[in-house]
Formats: sequence, C-alpha cells, structure tokens
Amino acid sequence: MEAGRDCDVVLTGGRVIDPETGFDEFADVGIRDGRIVSVGNDTPNSREIVDVSGLVVAPGFIDLHSHAQNLPGHRLQALDGVTTTLELEAGALPVADYYEAATAEGRPLNFGYSAGWVHARMSVLDDVADADPLHDPTDRLGMSTFEKFQDGPRWRDAADAPEVDRILTLVREQIEAGAIGVGVLAGYAPGFAQSELDGLAQLAAESRQSLFVHSRSIANVDHGGALDAVRELIDVAERFDAPIHLCHMNSTSGQRIGSVVDEMREAQARGVTITTEAYPYGAGSTVIGASFLDPQRLAANNMSPQSIIYLATGERVASAERLDEIRAVDPGGICILESFDLTDDHQKELLFEALTYPDAAMASDAIAVTFNGDEEHRRAAEEAIAGDVWPLPKGLIAHPRSSGCFATVFSWLVREAQVLTLTEAIRRCTLIPANILAEAAPAMSRKGRLQVGADADVCVFDPETIEPGGDYQQLQPTTGVEYLYVSGTSVVFEGQLLPDSLPGRPVYGAKRSRDIE
Ligand SMILES: [Zn+2]
Repeated sequence: MEAGRDCDVVLTGGRVIDPETGFDEFADVGIRDGRIVSVGNDTPNSREIVDVSGLVVAPGFIDLHSHAQNLPGHRLQALDGVTTTLELEAGALPVADYYEAATAEGRPLNFGYSAGWVHARMSVLDDVADADPLHDPTDRLGMSTFEKFQDGPRWRDAADAPEVDRILTLVREQIEAGAIGVGVLAGYAPGFAQSELDGLAQLAAESRQSLFVHSRSIANVDHGGALDAVRELIDVAERFDAPIHLCHMNSTSGQRIGSVVDEMREAQARGVTITTEAYPYGAGSTVIGASFLDPQRLAANNMSPQSIIYLATGERVASAERLDEIRAVDPGGICILESFDLTDDHQKELLFEALTYPDAAMASDAIAVTFNGDEEHRRAAEEAIAGDVWPLPKGLIAHPRSSGCFATVFSWLVREAQVLTLTEAIRRCTLIPANILAEAAPAMSRKGRLQVGADADVCVFDPETIEPGGDYQQLQPTTGVEYLYVSGTSVVFEGQLLPDSLPGRPVYGAKRSRDIE
C-alpha cells in the first residue's frame, strides 16, 4: 500500500446500507482502484475525502431494462442513481458491434446487451440487413432495428422449421459473443410457434442464460390473455429447467395482476426458475405499430385508442381510424399507453401488488429521449439526441421512467405510499437485479452490494428529498442523487452530472466473461 494513499476517495459520515448483510450504520466507505476497500469507523488515509453526512450511501442502482443506451439516456439515469444499465428485454444484434460501439464512444454507466430475438426474426424472415452501430448513427440503440423495421411483412408470424433453426442459430451466436441472455419481445411477434419458444428455452437451459421476456399477450381476457401468457412462460421454464425473467410484470399483467401474482408465487414455490421486475407508473410506453395496439385487438382486450398518447404530436388518439392512420405512417413512433388509472385507489393497489411482489426487481424500461415536434427547439433537440450534449435542451420528451424511475421508487413507494421500507426499496434496486444475473453475467456478483471487495459502484442520495423531475409532457432529471461513483470514478458530484466522466464498462454474459478472465 502506498504511503498516504490507502484510498482514492473516502465517503465520510453517511448512513451506509448494504442490502445483502443488512448492515445499516453510520460509517466511512473507502474506495481504491475501483473497489470498495473499507467500510467502518477508522477513516483511512485518502487523496480525497467527501463529506456525505445526512445522506444514504447505497450500492448503485442496477437497471435490468433500459432501452436508452446512448449518452443522454445514461446521463439521465446517472442522476437517477443508476450505475449499471442493461438492454435485456429487446437486446441487440450483432451484440459484439453494439458492445464495441458503446465502448468506443464511452459511457458514464456500465452497460450490456442481451441477444435480440426479434432482430434475429427480422433478419431471417424479412431479410433485414445487420445493424451497423459502429458506422451508422441511426443504428446506435440496441432496439434501432426493431423500431426501423416494424412494417416488415413476416417477423411477427410463425416461422417454418428451417427458419426457426436459423433464428436460434443467430441467437446462439450472440450468446457466444457475450450477450447476457436473450431478449424475447414475444408480445410484439405473437405469431411464433411453441416449438420456437421451446428452442429458446432449451438454449437458455444449456447456456444458463435467461430469457428476458415481454410476454405474448397483455389482453384482459380469460383465454389467450395476460395470465395465459405468463402460464406459457412458467410451463416452458419448468419443462426445460430454463431460467426465465418476466419483464415489467406491472404493464403486461395489467388488470390480471392478482392472478399473475398467484401463479408466479406457486411456480416459484415449486422451484421454477422464473424471476420478475416492475416499474412504478400507471402507464407504459412502446412503438405505436405494436401488434397489441391494433384497434381491433384493443377492442377485444377491453382497451380503447383513447388510452394511447402519440408522442410525436402529443395527441391523445381520438379514434380507431386515427390510430390506423398513425400506425400506417409511423409504426416505429413512440407512444404512451395507460394501463392503470392511479386516481382510483383500487387501480393503485393493483399496481402495488406488482411493485411489492417478493423479490421483484425495480427496472425502468427507460426509452431513449425523443423530440416532441416543437419546431422552435428542433435543431438543438436533434443534436442532443444524436450526440454529446449536456445539459439537455428544451423540446425533448420520454416516458418519465426514463429519467425518474428510481427516484419515484423512493419518493412515492417509500415516502408517500409507504408500501416499501427504505432498505427493501434499495434491495430491489441493487441486490435483487444483481442476483437475477449472477449466473448469466458473473461480474454482477461484485455489484449490488456495499461491502469490502465489491465494485465501487455507489449511489449517495438523500432519501428525504430525492424526487423525479419530469412527467409525461416534459423531461427533467431527478434531483437528490448527490454523488455517484462508477468503478470508483465520480459521475455525479454535489448533485451535478460530470459530462466528461465516462467510466462505464461493458458487462458481458458468462461465455465471453470466461474467455477474458
Ligand atoms: Zn416490454
């Protein structure tokens, strides 16, 4: 140990909470070379001492579900306390190029991708060319292919046996290249055959890599609806002993949440390896061309076009005719979809059932910021979306979960509604997601913990004041995260984002991790 440099930085005087050991005391945290090297009351020598008294010192939040894999997306999440943000539900393809492009550009937060199953379907069934994120800025997001080729003719439908083989081969290649599991947007390609899901589950079981699934149906109906879609996943997880993660249990279960919760509990009790996550909002966000937003399907599912807000114009969709029109012109356009009316106490209780489900992770489902059509701010907005601009200009918009999911967990679920304790909320934002990935991405076992030897991914925040900034109409960062460290490097300092700080590292699936360690 060098003299006078026991640590690079010491956080002193904070309330330190480790969700794994239950440690919850006022203590100093020493960081050196990207790891936590001390937690206790004997303050070590350090280059830098930061007084964090009055604040909570927790592991950085781990987001299993963020589509906002660009600089603006990462920076908004940094201010929301996130240190690792992963695109696991949609995934990417080719994953190696996505990892390389993000590494070359630099990221403030740790990042990773699953294998994109719909991308593989688009490639095999609609001859969509491989994305090129290294050279084409319009391919930068993992889900770019998904947004761009929504109107492809066949990717939503059943594939024949040789095509299924090719899809599975493409997916397997991504796992070999370091993808964390497989992103399965089943609800967007609901025509796929059972044999294809069986093939994915077999791959998941053999590789011990989870399927991260947006379930096949959100319909509020008895047969072929949201509950059957979850039963299908439990069944396949059980038959193949495959690890399966049900994405955003809140939004895909909708009004069927009570039955979904019962079914999940029973499955987990008999040892089925199924995990889940939720986000604290009554509305979701997706592409307006999604199969389940077809006006006829909406009607069959007891939903109406008026529960959709189209972000490009800000309009609430007035009729089935108008919805058809928008879907034809801009199928990849982003919209908000209301699933719970939070002014109704019963509806709120339904959402809380998902958010308090045992061992459910908090996961944001963040989407990349987009432009709201305000001509006055168009140029600045477009530059900010494509490039390296901070602070973000006016005129940007995204579902508020993209900038404030984790703050909302503390401001709403802990402080206001009191349905989670502070410690339990921290556990759901850190240790639980880390544990969900422990097998698929071994590096995650050093994250989600505030202990000696853990990665120095640390979030220092004020649990009394942390507050999301934006809403559905305007984008604003969270306030109340005072310091954020990623691998020991400061990304947020005294509440301010440091735009030049890009310490984020790739998190790979186990195949690649084994190759490089
Ligand atoms: Zn989804």
